[in-house]
Amino acid sequence: RTARRHPIQYYIDGILNGNRITLSQAITLAESQLPSDQQLSESILTELLPHTGKSIRIGITGVPGVGKSTFIEAFGALLTQEGYKVAVLTIDPSSPKTKGSILGDKTRMEKLAANPMAYIRPSASGNTLGGVAAGTKESILLCEAAGYDVILVETVGVGQSEISIRELTDFFLLLMLAGAGDELQGIKKGIMEMADTIAITKADGDNITASKLAKKSYQNALHLFAQSEQDWYPKVFTCSALEGNGMHTIWKEILRFESHMKERGYFQQRRKEQDLYWMHQYINEQLHKHFYQDTSIQKMLSIKKDNILNGEELPIQGAKVLLEQYFSSITKA
Ligand code: GDP
Repeated sequence: RTARRHPIQYYIDGILNGNRITLSQAITLAESQLPSDQQLSESILTELLPHTGKSIRIGITGVPGVGKSTFIEAFGALLTQEGYKVAVLTIDPSSPKTKGSILGDKTRMEKLAANPMAYIRPSASGNTLGGVAAGTKESILLCEAAGYDVILVETVGVGQSEISIRELTDFFLLLMLAGAGDELQGIKKGIMEMADTIAITKADGDNITASKLAKKSYQNALHLFAQSEQDWYPKVFTCSALEGNGMHTIWKEILRFESHMKERGYFQQRRKEQDLYWMHQYINEQLHKHFYQDTSIQKMLSIKKDNILNGEELPIQGAKVLLEQYFSSITKA
């Protein structure tokens, strides 16, 4: 997507008026890799900063087929009925293996997409380090400035992306299937430890008994984890997006979490830590890029690779020579 650029005031006014087209255009700028777009995007965000931060940011993750889009469709409907404006940012970690999208090209969340209280924006994660779309953090801020009260950030629970989602959101909801083994779901213990709440999906029909069992066993598993420093003990719920069961309970739990964290000062603390995380993430990414884009490094790298593969040089020696070359080239520049 290439962005057509307008004067900065156009974006500020449009977004503050809740204009979705302008919001989408600003998100496109935030996702753009063009330095001129990024500069414009940063200026827009700087202006809008006083209007950001008031939403609750909810990360939702789970393996393909767990029911994420069906859940968000039902959950979003509930929230808009309660008067909240809901933004959904879906991050598709376009699989490097298949070169295709994991979330699928099928139309997702059709009803919510047509709901005037909701805004849905899909993004491809590309190949940024954190497995999160470039500009997701910025997109959250833009949606807040546009007046959205609840921001749902959806990603597939594979690879790195859920770590980034945890670092982007106030509340991390992990969706899991009953009856499927943990290995089958690709769920690592680490991900369960990051969750603020777990919901077992598709608790309806023949699946009800299995869902109740899964709830018990996950709840027991959570008890084994280290105590939360923030005095928050994640619970496991069952829900059915198809029948609409459990949605309200999960929303109430999120509100309970929000007041728990705010009363103790952890809510803002988590956001501040996240800001620092993203600063470091950006530095790491840029250093990485700068190093590997250097043509003299690229030449030397291919020689070193051969040497290492032929057993003529130790990996660490090759690395040291490359880094010395890099540091001396930047001090000369
Ligand atoms: P995603 O890949 O995680 O977004 O999963 P989808 O939302 O596309 O759902 C995958 C499949 O599970 C679809 O065929 C849905 O109809 C089905 N599904 C989703 N939620 C429920 C539910 O609450 N109950 C039942 N029985 N099926 C569901």
